[in-house]
Amino acid sequence: MTRQHQLSRAAAAGQAVSTGTLPSALPGVQTPASAVDKITDRLITAIAIGEYLPESRLPAERELAASLQVGRMTVRSAIARLVQGGLLETRRGRGGGSFVREPSGPTSNASVHRTLTARWDALRDTCEAVSLLHGTIARAAAKNRTDVDVQVLRERLECFRNAGSGQPSQKADELLHLSIAEAAHNATLRGTLFELESRVSIAAPAYLWGSPIGMREMELRALADHENLVAAICERQVERAGTIGAEHAHIDLELLEAALREADPLEA
Ligand SMILES: [Zn+2]
Repeated sequence: MTRQHQLSRAAAAGQAVSTGTLPSALPGVQTPASAVDKITDRLITAIAIGEYLPESRLPAERELAASLQVGRMTVRSAIARLVQGGLLETRRGRGGGSFVREPSGPTSNASVHRTLTARWDALRDTCEAVSLLHGTIARAAAKNRTDVDVQVLRERLECFRNAGSGQPSQKADELLHLSIAEAAHNATLRGTLFELESRVSIAAPAYLWGSPIGMREMELRALADHENLVAAICERQVERAGTIGAEHAHIDLELLEAALREADPLEA
């Protein structure tokens, strides 16, 4: 789970940003946003909040269309706009696809602000529910974990500890949380968690990973959480596992709040 709640505005201003100009997603105040406009905004936001980190590949059009519940042509048009705006590049051939070029910059602000404000109440409530559910799953894992689970949890924790910053850590985080959900041995809780997370995130179960600024500090904070969480589960400390699990997950909302502040035209 991602742990960045302090974005430095000064540092943000100094970071490398795309020099491309993103086409306006809202051509005029009177014109209702089209499906392509909305999906363009959502993808820009997903990049800005670090669901898709620099150098990462977006899922295939078919998968994106399914998770965003729109047609493939809509996704294709939105991706074309992002390529035009310099946020994505298309690579051909084996291992090809749409890749994130650089950290998103001020050109993304209007899209991020529109996307987050339009869904803010639902996002806040869902983040809160996800956090509570992470606590419940951690409690269940502390009660129900087997010796094999303990072995897997410790291996995944070690993988997270050794993972490089950015994408490798994000992937290791995803695998660790999947193994905690497995250790709970409750398919209903697990399924509910994934369903709720997919409402917050386009890239679920990959977690928001924030902007590259301050990322290492966030990852070290996550590591400390993970160490305490895995220890509590392995030692069957039910209450402690629940508390740590919920607190660890709550930081997604802090990250979204930071992204919203960063994108706020009144604060720029
Ligand atoms: Zn985590």
